[in-house]
Amino acid sequence: MIAPGSTIGIVGGGQLGRMLAMAAAQMGYRVHIYAPDEAPCAGEVSAVTTRGEYDDLDALGRFAKSVDVATFEFENIDAGALAYLAEHVRLYPPPRALEIAQDRLAEKGFVSDLGGRTAPYAAVENEADLRAAIAKIGTPGILKTNRFGYDGKGQARISSPDDATSAWATMNGVPCVYEGFVSFQAEFSLLVARADDGSSVSYPVPKNEHDHGILARSIVPAGTAIDAQAREATALALKVAAALDYVGLLTLEFFASPDGPVFNEMAPRVHNSGHWTIEGARTSQFENHIRAVCGLPLGDTTLTAARVEMHNLLGQQVDQWSTILSDPHAHMHIYGKGEARDGRKMGHVTRLVL
Ligand code: AMP
Repeated sequence: MIAPGSTIGIVGGGQLGRMLAMAAAQMGYRVHIYAPDEAPCAGEVSAVTTRGEYDDLDALGRFAKSVDVATFEFENIDAGALAYLAEHVRLYPPPRALEIAQDRLAEKGFVSDLGGRTAPYAAVENEADLRAAIAKIGTPGILKTNRFGYDGKGQARISSPDDATSAWATMNGVPCVYEGFVSFQAEFSLLVARADDGSSVSYPVPKNEHDHGILARSIVPAGTAIDAQAREATALALKVAAALDYVGLLTLEFFASPDGPVFNEMAPRVHNSGHWTIEGARTSQFENHIRAVCGLPLGDTTLTAARVEMHNLLGQQVDQWSTILSDPHAHMHIYGKGEARDGRKMGHVTRLVL
Protein backbone atom coordinates (compact mmCIF):
# COMPACT_ATOMS: atom_id res chain seq x y z
CA MET A 1 0.00 0.00 0.00
CA ILE A 2 1.14 3.52 -0.76
CA ALA A 3 0.15 5.44 2.36
CA PRO A 4 -1.24 8.98 2.50
CA GLY A 5 1.67 11.39 2.74
CA SER A 6 3.43 9.60 -0.15
CA THR A 7 4.01 11.21 -3.53
CA ILE A 8 2.10 10.15 -6.63
CA GLY A 9 3.71 11.01 -9.96
CA ILE A 10 1.38 11.85 -12.85
CA VAL A 11 2.67 11.96 -16.41
CA GLY A 12 0.63 14.59 -18.25
CA GLY A 13 -0.56 17.95 -17.00
CA GLY A 14 -4.06 18.56 -18.40
CA GLN A 15 -7.47 18.70 -16.77
CA LEU A 16 -7.48 14.95 -16.08
CA GLY A 17 -4.24 15.32 -14.14
CA ARG A 18 -5.68 18.33 -12.35
CA MET A 19 -8.76 16.44 -11.18
CA LEU A 20 -6.64 13.40 -10.23
CA ALA A 21 -4.36 15.67 -8.21
CA MET A 22 -7.32 17.20 -6.39
CA ALA A 23 -8.67 13.74 -5.49
CA ALA A 24 -5.19 12.67 -4.35
CA ALA A 25 -4.74 15.80 -2.24
CA GLN A 26 -8.06 15.17 -0.53
CA MET A 27 -6.72 11.80 0.61
CA GLY A 28 -3.46 13.27 1.87
CA TYR A 29 -1.12 12.50 -1.05
CA ARG A 30 1.35 14.86 -2.67
CA VAL A 31 1.30 14.98 -6.46
CA HIS A 32 4.23 15.52 -8.79
CA ILE A 33 3.24 16.42 -12.37
CA TYR A 34 5.53 15.63 -15.31
CA ALA A 35 4.60 17.45 -18.52
CA PRO A 36 6.27 19.34 -21.38
CA ASP A 37 4.05 22.42 -21.03
CA GLU A 38 5.28 25.67 -19.55
CA ALA A 39 2.36 26.00 -17.11
CA PRO A 40 0.30 22.78 -17.10
CA CYS A 41 -3.12 23.31 -15.51
CA ALA A 42 -2.57 20.24 -13.29
CA GLY A 43 0.55 21.89 -11.91
CA GLU A 44 -1.51 24.66 -10.31
CA VAL A 45 -2.99 22.20 -7.81
CA SER A 46 0.02 19.91 -7.32
CA ALA A 47 2.96 19.98 -4.94
CA VAL A 48 5.68 19.71 -7.60
CA THR A 49 5.83 20.12 -11.37
CA THR A 50 8.67 18.99 -13.63
CA ARG A 51 8.83 20.30 -17.15
CA GLY A 52 10.10 17.57 -19.43
CA GLU A 53 9.43 15.99 -22.82
CA TYR A 54 7.56 12.69 -22.86
CA ASP A 55 10.51 10.94 -24.53
CA ASP A 56 13.28 12.37 -22.33
CA LEU A 57 14.40 9.18 -20.59
CA ASP A 58 16.91 10.91 -18.28
CA ALA A 59 14.28 13.32 -17.01
CA LEU A 60 11.72 10.51 -16.69
CA GLY A 61 14.27 8.49 -14.70
CA ARG A 62 14.81 11.39 -12.25
CA PHE A 63 11.03 11.85 -11.99
CA ALA A 64 10.65 8.13 -11.21
CA LYS A 65 13.15 8.41 -8.33
CA SER A 66 11.24 11.33 -6.80
CA VAL A 67 7.83 9.62 -6.54
CA ASP A 68 6.47 6.55 -4.71
CA VAL A 69 4.14 5.41 -7.49
CA ALA A 70 3.37 6.76 -10.96
CA THR A 71 0.43 6.94 -13.30
CA PHE A 72 -0.45 8.83 -16.51
CA GLU A 73 -3.33 10.94 -17.72
CA PHE A 74 -2.23 11.49 -21.32
CA GLU A 75 -2.44 8.85 -24.02
CA ASN A 76 0.00 9.97 -26.67
CA ILE A 77 3.08 9.04 -24.69
CA ASP A 78 5.56 6.80 -26.40
CA ALA A 79 4.95 3.30 -25.01
CA GLY A 80 8.73 2.73 -24.89
CA ALA A 81 9.21 5.76 -22.62
CA LEU A 82 6.44 4.54 -20.37
CA ALA A 83 7.99 1.05 -20.23
CA TYR A 84 11.28 2.74 -19.23
CA LEU A 85 9.45 4.58 -16.45
CA ALA A 86 7.93 1.28 -15.30
CA GLU A 87 11.45 -0.13 -14.86
CA HIS A 88 12.23 2.62 -12.34
CA VAL A 89 9.03 3.03 -10.34
CA ARG A 90 5.77 1.21 -9.78
CA LEU A 91 3.55 2.40 -12.66
CA TYR A 92 -0.18 1.85 -13.12
CA PRO A 93 -2.05 1.19 -15.38
CA PRO A 94 0.30 -1.29 -17.08
CA PRO A 95 2.06 0.17 -20.17
CA ARG A 96 0.68 -2.71 -22.24
CA ALA A 97 -2.83 -1.28 -21.79
CA LEU A 98 -1.63 2.01 -23.26
CA GLU A 99 0.16 0.26 -26.10
CA ILE A 100 -3.03 -1.55 -27.12
CA ALA A 101 -5.27 1.49 -26.69
CA GLN A 102 -2.96 3.63 -28.85
CA ASP A 103 -3.56 1.37 -31.83
CA ARG A 104 -7.12 1.02 -33.14
CA LEU A 105 -6.36 -2.29 -34.88
CA ALA A 106 -4.76 -3.73 -31.75
CA GLU A 107 -7.60 -2.63 -29.46
CA LYS A 108 -10.30 -3.97 -31.76
CA GLY A 109 -8.45 -7.27 -32.11
CA PHE A 110 -7.87 -7.52 -28.36
CA VAL A 111 -11.49 -6.82 -27.48
CA SER A 112 -12.96 -9.05 -30.17
CA ASP A 113 -10.70 -11.92 -29.02
CA LEU A 114 -12.37 -11.52 -25.62
CA GLY A 115 -15.82 -11.87 -27.19
CA GLY A 116 -16.62 -8.17 -27.77
CA ARG A 117 -18.56 -6.99 -30.82
CA THR A 118 -16.86 -4.40 -33.05
CA ALA A 119 -17.83 -2.63 -36.28
CA PRO A 120 -16.55 -4.54 -39.32
CA TYR A 121 -13.04 -3.20 -39.95
CA ALA A 122 -9.94 -3.61 -42.08
CA ALA A 123 -6.39 -2.29 -41.98
CA VAL A 124 -5.58 0.31 -44.68
CA GLU A 125 -2.05 1.27 -45.64
CA ASN A 126 -2.67 2.67 -49.11
CA GLU A 127 -5.46 3.63 -51.48
CA ALA A 128 -5.69 0.10 -52.93
CA ASP A 129 -6.24 -1.31 -49.43
CA LEU A 130 -8.96 1.27 -48.90
CA ARG A 131 -10.74 0.29 -52.11
CA ALA A 132 -10.52 -3.38 -51.12
CA ALA A 133 -11.83 -2.59 -47.62
CA ILE A 134 -14.77 -0.62 -49.06
CA ALA A 135 -15.55 -3.49 -51.46
CA LYS A 136 -15.54 -5.96 -48.56
CA ILE A 137 -17.24 -3.92 -45.83
CA GLY A 138 -19.38 -1.57 -47.93
CA THR A 139 -20.42 2.04 -47.37
CA PRO A 140 -21.10 4.18 -45.45
CA GLY A 141 -17.96 3.88 -43.39
CA ILE A 142 -15.26 5.86 -41.65
CA LEU A 143 -11.57 5.95 -42.38
CA LYS A 144 -9.58 6.64 -39.20
CA THR A 145 -5.88 7.01 -38.55
CA ASN A 146 -4.78 3.95 -36.63
CA ARG A 147 -2.94 6.04 -34.05
CA PHE A 148 -3.10 9.53 -32.50
CA GLY A 149 -6.77 10.24 -33.24
CA TYR A 150 -8.89 11.99 -30.65
CA ASP A 151 -12.11 13.99 -30.46
CA GLY A 152 -12.99 12.90 -34.01
CA LYS A 153 -9.69 14.16 -35.47
CA GLY A 154 -7.93 12.07 -38.11
CA GLN A 155 -11.21 10.74 -39.56
CA ALA A 156 -12.96 10.87 -42.92
CA ARG A 157 -16.51 9.75 -43.62
CA ILE A 158 -16.97 7.68 -46.75
CA SER A 159 -20.45 7.54 -48.24
CA SER A 160 -19.61 5.95 -51.58
CA PRO A 161 -16.61 4.17 -53.13
CA ASP A 162 -16.01 7.38 -55.13
CA ASP A 163 -14.85 9.05 -51.90
CA ALA A 164 -11.86 6.71 -51.55
CA THR A 165 -9.27 8.92 -53.27
CA SER A 166 -10.18 12.12 -51.45
CA ALA A 167 -10.50 10.38 -48.08
CA TRP A 168 -7.13 8.67 -48.41
CA ALA A 169 -5.53 11.99 -49.45
CA THR A 170 -6.49 13.57 -46.09
CA MET A 171 -4.63 10.89 -44.11
CA ASN A 172 -1.07 11.92 -45.07
CA GLY A 173 -0.15 8.32 -45.86
CA VAL A 174 -0.28 7.09 -42.25
CA PRO A 175 -1.63 3.60 -41.44
CA CYS A 176 -5.41 3.67 -41.05
CA VAL A 177 -8.40 1.50 -40.31
CA TYR A 178 -11.61 1.49 -42.34
CA GLU A 179 -14.73 0.81 -40.30
CA GLY A 180 -18.26 0.10 -41.40
CA PHE A 181 -20.69 2.72 -40.11
CA VAL A 182 -22.66 1.46 -37.11
CA SER A 183 -26.24 2.67 -37.11
CA PHE A 184 -26.51 3.22 -33.41
CA GLN A 185 -29.30 4.49 -31.19
CA ALA A 186 -26.91 6.17 -28.78
CA GLU A 187 -23.35 6.19 -27.49
CA PHE A 188 -22.30 5.24 -23.99
CA SER A 189 -19.21 4.46 -22.02
CA LEU A 190 -18.23 2.03 -19.35
CA LEU A 191 -15.95 3.15 -16.53
CA VAL A 192 -14.46 0.41 -14.39
CA ALA A 193 -11.81 0.54 -11.70
CA ARG A 194 -9.68 -2.46 -10.87
CA ALA A 195 -7.27 -2.97 -7.97
CA ASP A 196 -4.18 -5.16 -8.00
CA ASP A 197 -5.90 -7.80 -5.85
CA GLY A 198 -8.32 -8.26 -8.78
CA SER A 199 -11.28 -6.55 -7.09
CA SER A 200 -13.20 -4.19 -9.32
CA VAL A 201 -16.11 -1.78 -9.44
CA SER A 202 -18.08 -0.34 -12.37
CA TYR A 203 -20.02 2.89 -12.63
CA PRO A 204 -23.60 3.43 -13.74
CA VAL A 205 -23.45 3.93 -17.50
CA PRO A 206 -23.58 7.46 -18.99
CA LYS A 207 -25.17 8.26 -22.33
CA ASN A 208 -22.71 10.41 -24.25
CA GLU A 209 -23.66 13.04 -26.81
CA HIS A 210 -21.07 14.54 -29.13
CA ASP A 211 -20.96 17.77 -31.14
CA HIS A 212 -18.54 17.70 -34.09
CA GLY A 213 -16.78 14.66 -32.63
CA ILE A 214 -16.22 16.29 -29.20
CA LEU A 215 -18.09 15.08 -26.14
CA ALA A 216 -20.76 17.67 -25.33
CA ARG A 217 -22.67 15.99 -22.50
CA SER A 218 -23.01 12.81 -20.46
CA ILE A 219 -26.30 11.85 -18.86
CA VAL A 220 -26.99 9.22 -16.19
CA PRO A 221 -29.18 7.16 -16.08
CA ALA A 222 -28.69 6.63 -19.77
CA GLY A 223 -32.22 5.51 -20.62
CA THR A 224 -33.75 2.17 -21.43
CA ALA A 225 -32.07 1.53 -24.82
CA ILE A 226 -28.64 1.77 -23.24
CA ASP A 227 -29.47 0.31 -19.84
CA ALA A 228 -30.59 -2.90 -21.59
CA GLN A 229 -27.04 -3.22 -22.97
CA ALA A 230 -25.14 -2.12 -19.89
CA ARG A 231 -24.81 -5.57 -18.35
CA GLU A 232 -23.15 -7.08 -21.43
CA ALA A 233 -20.86 -4.07 -21.85
CA THR A 234 -19.90 -4.08 -18.16
CA ALA A 235 -19.04 -7.77 -18.30
CA LEU A 236 -16.84 -7.10 -21.33
CA ALA A 237 -15.10 -4.13 -19.69
CA LEU A 238 -14.31 -6.18 -16.58
CA LYS A 239 -13.00 -9.00 -18.79
CA VAL A 240 -10.75 -6.54 -20.67
CA ALA A 241 -9.46 -5.13 -17.36
CA ALA A 242 -8.71 -8.60 -16.01
CA ALA A 243 -7.00 -9.71 -19.26
CA LEU A 244 -4.71 -6.66 -19.05
CA ASP A 245 -4.00 -7.21 -15.35
CA TYR A 246 -5.21 -3.66 -15.14
CA VAL A 247 -4.83 -1.43 -12.12
CA GLY A 248 -6.64 1.92 -12.18
CA LEU A 249 -9.60 3.39 -14.00
CA LEU A 250 -10.33 2.03 -17.48
CA THR A 251 -12.85 3.42 -19.98
CA LEU A 252 -14.49 1.61 -22.87
CA GLU A 253 -16.71 3.46 -25.36
CA PHE A 254 -19.64 1.74 -27.03
CA PHE A 255 -22.41 2.26 -29.55
CA ALA A 256 -25.84 0.96 -28.49
CA SER A 257 -26.89 -0.80 -31.70
CA PRO A 258 -29.89 -3.01 -32.47
CA ASP A 259 -27.50 -6.01 -32.28
CA GLY A 260 -26.24 -5.06 -28.81
CA PRO A 261 -23.27 -3.03 -27.59
CA VAL A 262 -20.61 -2.39 -30.24
CA PHE A 263 -17.16 -1.60 -28.80
CA ASN A 264 -15.63 1.51 -30.36
CA GLU A 265 -12.48 2.33 -28.41
CA MET A 266 -10.88 2.29 -25.00
CA ALA A 267 -8.84 4.69 -22.91
CA PRO A 268 -6.49 3.43 -20.18
CA ARG A 269 -7.30 6.39 -17.97
CA VAL A 270 -9.96 8.50 -16.36
CA HIS A 271 -12.30 9.90 -18.99
CA ASN A 272 -14.34 12.98 -19.83
CA SER A 273 -17.51 10.87 -19.83
CA GLY A 274 -16.83 10.17 -16.14
CA HIS A 275 -16.53 13.75 -14.89
CA TRP A 276 -20.09 13.58 -13.56
CA THR A 277 -18.85 11.09 -10.93
CA ILE A 278 -17.24 13.91 -8.89
CA GLU A 279 -20.63 14.94 -7.51
CA GLY A 280 -22.84 12.27 -9.07
CA ALA A 281 -21.28 9.12 -7.61
CA ARG A 282 -20.32 8.31 -4.04
CA THR A 283 -16.70 7.87 -5.12
CA SER A 284 -15.45 9.74 -8.19
CA GLN A 285 -13.54 8.12 -11.04
CA PHE A 286 -10.53 10.21 -9.96
CA GLU A 287 -10.62 9.01 -6.38
CA ASN A 288 -11.07 5.38 -7.43
CA HIS A 289 -8.11 5.69 -9.80
CA ILE A 290 -5.95 7.07 -6.98
CA ARG A 291 -7.22 4.36 -4.61
CA ALA A 292 -6.37 1.63 -7.13
CA VAL A 293 -2.93 3.02 -7.91
CA CYS A 294 -2.12 3.27 -4.19
CA GLY A 295 -3.45 -0.19 -3.34
CA LEU A 296 -6.35 1.14 -1.24
CA PRO A 297 -9.80 -0.47 -1.23
CA LEU A 298 -12.05 0.78 -4.04
CA GLY A 299 -14.99 3.07 -3.21
CA ASP A 300 -18.71 2.78 -3.80
CA THR A 301 -19.86 3.90 -7.27
CA THR A 302 -23.58 4.31 -6.53
CA LEU A 303 -25.32 7.43 -7.89
CA THR A 304 -25.91 10.28 -5.44
CA ALA A 305 -28.92 11.66 -7.32
CA ALA A 306 -31.84 10.45 -9.42
CA ARG A 307 -30.33 12.05 -12.51
CA VAL A 308 -26.92 13.53 -13.25
CA GLU A 309 -25.92 15.59 -16.29
CA MET A 310 -22.45 16.76 -17.21
CA HIS A 311 -21.96 19.45 -19.87
CA ASN A 312 -18.56 20.34 -21.19
CA LEU A 313 -17.67 24.01 -21.37
CA LEU A 314 -15.95 24.31 -24.74
CA GLY A 315 -14.07 27.43 -25.79
CA GLN A 316 -15.87 30.61 -24.81
CA GLN A 317 -18.78 28.76 -23.18
CA VAL A 318 -16.63 29.02 -20.07
CA ASP A 319 -17.40 32.75 -19.91
CA GLN A 320 -20.98 31.90 -18.88
CA TRP A 321 -19.89 30.86 -15.41
CA SER A 322 -22.10 33.32 -13.55
CA THR A 323 -25.26 32.27 -15.42
CA ILE A 324 -24.37 28.63 -14.82
CA LEU A 325 -24.15 29.17 -11.09
CA SER A 326 -27.60 30.76 -10.94
CA ASP A 327 -28.82 27.15 -10.88
CA PRO A 328 -28.24 25.96 -7.29
CA HIS A 329 -27.94 22.34 -8.49
CA ALA A 330 -25.05 23.15 -10.81
CA HIS A 331 -21.45 22.39 -9.88
CA MET A 332 -18.92 24.24 -11.95
CA HIS A 333 -15.41 23.09 -12.77
CA ILE A 334 -13.02 25.41 -14.58
CA TYR A 335 -9.64 24.00 -15.50
CA GLY A 336 -7.54 27.16 -15.41
CA LYS A 337 -6.27 26.67 -18.96
CA GLY A 338 -6.00 30.28 -20.08
CA GLU A 339 -6.89 30.95 -23.69
CA ALA A 340 -10.43 29.76 -24.59
CA ARG A 341 -9.74 28.54 -28.12
CA ASP A 342 -12.73 27.17 -30.12
CA GLY A 343 -13.58 23.62 -29.08
CA ARG A 344 -10.99 23.57 -26.27
CA LYS A 345 -12.20 21.82 -23.12
CA MET A 346 -12.11 24.68 -20.61
CA GLY A 347 -14.32 23.23 -17.90
CA HIS A 348 -17.53 21.35 -17.24
CA VAL A 349 -20.74 21.68 -15.28
CA THR A 350 -22.50 18.88 -13.46
CA ARG A 351 -26.16 19.19 -12.53
CA LEU A 352 -27.77 16.87 -10.03
CA VAL A 353 -31.50 16.29 -10.09
CA LEU A 354 -32.34 14.97 -6.65
P1 AMP B 1 -13.84 7.90 -32.27
O1 AMP B 1 -12.67 8.82 -32.45
O2 AMP B 1 -13.58 6.52 -32.75
O3 AMP B 1 -14.39 7.95 -30.88
O4 AMP B 1 -15.02 8.53 -33.19
C1 AMP B 1 -15.59 9.78 -32.93
C2 AMP B 1 -17.09 9.73 -33.15
O5 AMP B 1 -17.39 9.38 -34.51
C3 AMP B 1 -17.80 8.67 -32.31
O6 AMP B 1 -18.09 9.14 -31.03
C4 AMP B 1 -19.06 8.43 -33.16
O7 AMP B 1 -20.00 9.45 -32.94
C5 AMP B 1 -18.53 8.52 -34.56
N1 AMP B 1 -18.12 7.19 -35.05
C6 AMP B 1 -16.88 6.66 -34.95
N2 AMP B 1 -16.81 5.43 -35.48
C7 AMP B 1 -18.04 5.14 -35.94
C8 AMP B 1 -18.63 4.01 -36.60
N3 AMP B 1 -17.92 2.92 -36.93
N4 AMP B 1 -19.95 4.07 -36.91
C9 AMP B 1 -20.68 5.18 -36.62
N5 AMP B 1 -20.18 6.28 -36.02
C10 AMP B 1 -18.89 6.27 -35.67
